[in-house]
Amino acid sequence: MTLLAIEGLHTTYRSGTRLVHAVDGVSLEVGERETVGLVGESGCGKSTLGKTIMRLLDPSRGSIRLDGTEIADLDDRSMRSHRRKMQMVFQDPFASLNPRQTVFRLLDTPLKVHGVTDAQERRRRVVDMAGRVGLAPDALERYPHEFSGGQRQRIGIARALILSPRLVVCDEPVSALDLSIQAQILNLLVDLKRDLGLAYLFISHDLSVVRYFVDRVLVMYLGKIVESADHVSLWRDP
Ligand code: ADP
Ligand code: ADP
Repeated sequence: MTLLAIEGLHTTYRSGTRLVHAVDGVSLEVGERETVGLVGESGCGKSTLGKTIMRLLDPSRGSIRLDGTEIADLDDRSMRSHRRKMQMVFQDPFASLNPRQTVFRLLDTPLKVHGVTDAQERRRRVVDMAGRVGLAPDALERYPHEFSGGQRQRIGIARALILSPRLVVCDEPVSALDLSIQAQILNLLVDLKRDLGLAYLFISHDLSVVRYFVDRVLVMYLGKIVESADHVSLWRDP
């Protein structure tokens, strides 16, 4: 089953009088429970594509179908009910974590916003998610800045997963972390994918980071998908 289907997607930035065609006619699909790697050198448009799929940016043309619904032209209000189906994990979790909220509030608020009215039920889900991402129970009453980079990314991942999305766009989720921590966070993401039945679009500038756990890899260059490889050929090629 196809979860995400993109066709002829374009995203442009205005830079002075110039238009930057950051995403320049991209088509791709991500299946239910599939992990697709999106690799390419810095500046080729990966982040822009990820943010456009999430509708954090508006495409200038093209189609984005999520679970059968066209979302490319939905306004913010109509997007809200679709947001819970897809979430994003950023390179810098601070980009998405309000520093004035405790970890508990950070995880509790999205549930509230999305209509989980029972406070007991919310607490149960927050505690469950904190455990799944490997946060200690006392972490919930602390603030994001009190944690190390790896722990902070665990919070970012919990924040992305608390609404039980089916697709998670991971944008360089380990690139800012120490090497020893990178493997821990990657293993966590792989475990969560298996336990929760998630699909990932996994963005990285580094093929060696993604080749071990993706089903397929797409290679982006100057705003376009220029190559794709399945898991088998990824392992065959040295
Ligand atoms: P990647 O994630 O692959 O590093 P990006 O999506 O960040 O690539 O950037 C793609 C292109 O769009 C680059 O040329 C970048 O300079 C440009 N770009 C990214 N964000 C903006 C912006 N807000 N305004 C103008 N140009 C941008
Ligand atoms: P990333 O690869 O994670 O997008 P970047 O360093 O490319 O990191 O971009 C950091 C931020 O700056 C992003 O929000 C991006 O949209 C913005 N940005 C990137 N390139 C440009 C640019 N040429 N002009 C304006 N903003 C840009």
